Amino acid sequence: MALKLFNTLGRELQEFTPLHPSQVGLYTCGPTVYDYPHLGNYRSYLFADLLRRVLKANNYQVKHVMNITDVDDKTIKRSQDEKKGLKEFTQFYTERFFSDRDALNILPADLYPQASDYLDQMVALIERLLQAGYAYKSDDGSVYFSIAKDKAYGKLAQLNLNELTTNASGRMKTDEYEKDSARDFALWKAWDKSDGEIFWQTSLGKGRPGWHIECSAMSMANLSESFDLHTGGVDNIFPHHENEIAQSECATNKPLAKYWLHNEWLLVEGKKMAKSAGNFYTLRNIIDQGYAPLAYRYLTLTAHYRKQLNFTWESLTAAQTALNKLEDIMRDLAGSELGEVNEKYHQQFITSLNDDLNAPQALATVWEVVNDAALSPAEKKATLLDFDQILGLGLDQIKPLEIPAEVQKLVEERETARKSGDFSASDTIRDQIEKLGFKIDDSPTGPKIRQK
Ligand SMILES: [Zn+2]
Repeated sequence: MALKLFNTLGRELQEFTPLHPSQVGLYTCGPTVYDYPHLGNYRSYLFADLLRRVLKANNYQVKHVMNITDVDDKTIKRSQDEKKGLKEFTQFYTERFFSDRDALNILPADLYPQASDYLDQMVALIERLLQAGYAYKSDDGSVYFSIAKDKAYGKLAQLNLNELTTNASGRMKTDEYEKDSARDFALWKAWDKSDGEIFWQTSLGKGRPGWHIECSAMSMANLSESFDLHTGGVDNIFPHHENEIAQSECATNKPLAKYWLHNEWLLVEGKKMAKSAGNFYTLRNIIDQGYAPLAYRYLTLTAHYRKQLNFTWESLTAAQTALNKLEDIMRDLAGSELGEVNEKYHQQFITSLNDDLNAPQALATVWEVVNDAALSPAEKKATLLDFDQILGLGLDQIKPLEIPAEVQKLVEERETARKSGDFSASDTIRDQIEKLGFKIDDSPTGPKIRQK
């Protein structure tokens, strides 16, 4: 089955056909490095990672670019609050982001362009828009995009254009605002006192770029003026992606991205997880509570990316339990040979994922494989490892359990006690084993030793 994806542009499920068969270009809006990303941000990057792995499973070669926003309203303000240089401040959070990425087993992108390295490209793009009449300078020297000049403005967010032309007067200098505030937005922000030391002296004057132009410049510089896929969270649809489309397409007269994909929100008690709402958790918070980062990865796979996912400690516990079980199964299989991937299950698994990345259905296939007594251990192992190339749950890292001789001896003594009906002795030995950090699950095939 061919890969189908839901394109926000047009709001429909479409078959994926790449612009160039040899290489697929994928751009993901990356972190604004002014704080630790929260789990809602990571849902977005995990979704992009899933997409990338599914593209790879469909034999596409992917070039993945994720930007790092290291200059914008938020990074400037926070670095000033902490009395640190912008570069030093953003470098710290960029490194934290990379270590979280690795803990979540997110494949590194091919490139991580940093906005502050792309000023030339941003200025050139703004100059193009000025020349073509889509942008104008305001009294303070800032440059704004004129949405009235762009007849296609609003196509991604499906804004009502009639309402726009009557309401959209005036300008918007801040980067984030609501749909009903749609109006001319800043491409270039003339320096003012609040920027302090942060400015560039360019042909546009002294100032700094707006957030939206950063992604247009970095995506086109590192992919091309038209590329295949652009991803982000649903809150990026407006204004960020709408403005990216406006700036890029008016300058180049070409579609920026063919497919626009957006993941839904992560909720906490029914509300969007957000820094501004103060109801967020970072990866560090869940590690401190004893959860593995990959348990969060598992949790995100239990919901379709276009459905809201409610984060609760109960749901995270359930994800951790499921992950532990999978790891135990892989540990049991660690000693067996690697057989052939089961073709029927492989097809079933890929068919789910090719249907707009239906991860919950793909996970159901994982458990079918686990519970299929007709599969040989060798086949089971190969099939689960094959699935994990897409799921990224680290199952390929599971090693056989190393059981100390002392524990092994106690297990044997306990078996002897059990077989002779001496259950009190058997319980005492079980306690001794637990003290050594192991536990025993009695199964029909004999005792199974696990790490506690
Ligand atoms: Zn972006």
